Amino acid sequence: MKNTTPETTEEKPLEQVEREVRGRLEEWLTRTPYSFNPEASVVKTIIRGIAIRKIKAGDEYCPCRVLSGDLLEDSKVVCPCVYSKDEIENDGICLCHLFVGPNYKSG
Ligand code: SF4
Repeated sequence: MKNTTPETTEEKPLEQVEREVRGRLEEWLTRTPYSFNPEASVVKTIIRGIAIRKIKAGDEYCPCRVLSGDLLEDSKVVCPCVYSKDEIENDGICLCHLFVGPNYKSG
């Protein structure tokens, strides 16, 4: 029988999962020199994508990367992914454009 308790991720409304994802990432940002992209609509879209992945795939996976199905491999792309530091250092922004470095200039 399907578990219908409101605590399960499956049953949480998307907006609630989005709030949780955002809160966790905001907390992570306090320990980095990075920020969310100043374009709020980009942040909203990517956080929604991460929340959808959490609901459908079981974890807060990057919405811009293909999952392999291998749990260990895919753990590398739980946001913030293992590639984000290099991407931000090299390009000023992560692949999904969610996080930017301190010298990022939009436009
Ligand atoms: S590319 Fe950006 S949004 Fe995607 S997982 Fe890495 S840090 Fe998160």
